[in-house]
Amino acid sequence: MIKASTLQPQDASFRQTVLAGDYFIHRIEAGQTLRILDLEGNQAADTLFYNADDPGERYSATDTIRAQGNVYLTAGSVLMTNENRPLLEIVADTCGRHDTLGGACATESNTVRYSLEKKCMHACRDSWMLAINEHEEYGLDKADITHNINFFMNVPVTAKGGLTFADGISDAGKYVELKALMNTIVLISNCPQLNNPCNAYNPTPIEVIVW
Ligand SMILES: [Zn+2]
Repeated sequence: MIKASTLQPQDASFRQTVLAGDYFIHRIEAGQTLRILDLEGNQAADTLFYNADDPGERYSATDTIRAQGNVYLTAGSVLMTNENRPLLEIVADTCGRHDTLGGACATESNTVRYSLEKKCMHACRDSWMLAINEHEEYGLDKADITHNINFFMNVPVTAKGGLTFADGISDAGKYVELKALMNTIVLISNCPQLNNPCNAYNPTPIEVIVW
């Protein structure tokens, strides 16, 4: 569902550009709104969310899909935790569809999906691991790296239930906006993937904006 926001970037309390291949970790408070902006188009922002006051409670794809009865995320989706409580709500979306089934790239999945020689290439899982190691203050460890959302990624489900990694439907300037329903840790890997045609083999920057 396409729904534009009325928030203006010049009124934001926080703005940061995240280069392709970099991570972003930040705490937002309940009631704040987070925008992830696809600056150049068809980028994937592989994102995890946690209850900042108890990081053992985190975003759950299965609870979210069950609660809304739909596998796609867009405006109106309420992101649920593994304790089946509302964590964030998508309040605006100019892309229209985001994936939470495909998982994130890892060096291991790169070898299966592409070729063995891709083992040493930078992957989202590495970026998340680096983030939690460089920011111990958030209290996250390896076991907390679980379900994620691939913002701006298009993974349609076929009539037979198959997953297809399709061409992106995002474009330069498209964004998704989420309102925090509890104090939230946001952990993003701005995907460094160089082997997937869905980003035209060209990972690009995103911007994160908070009101
Ligand atoms: Zn990735």
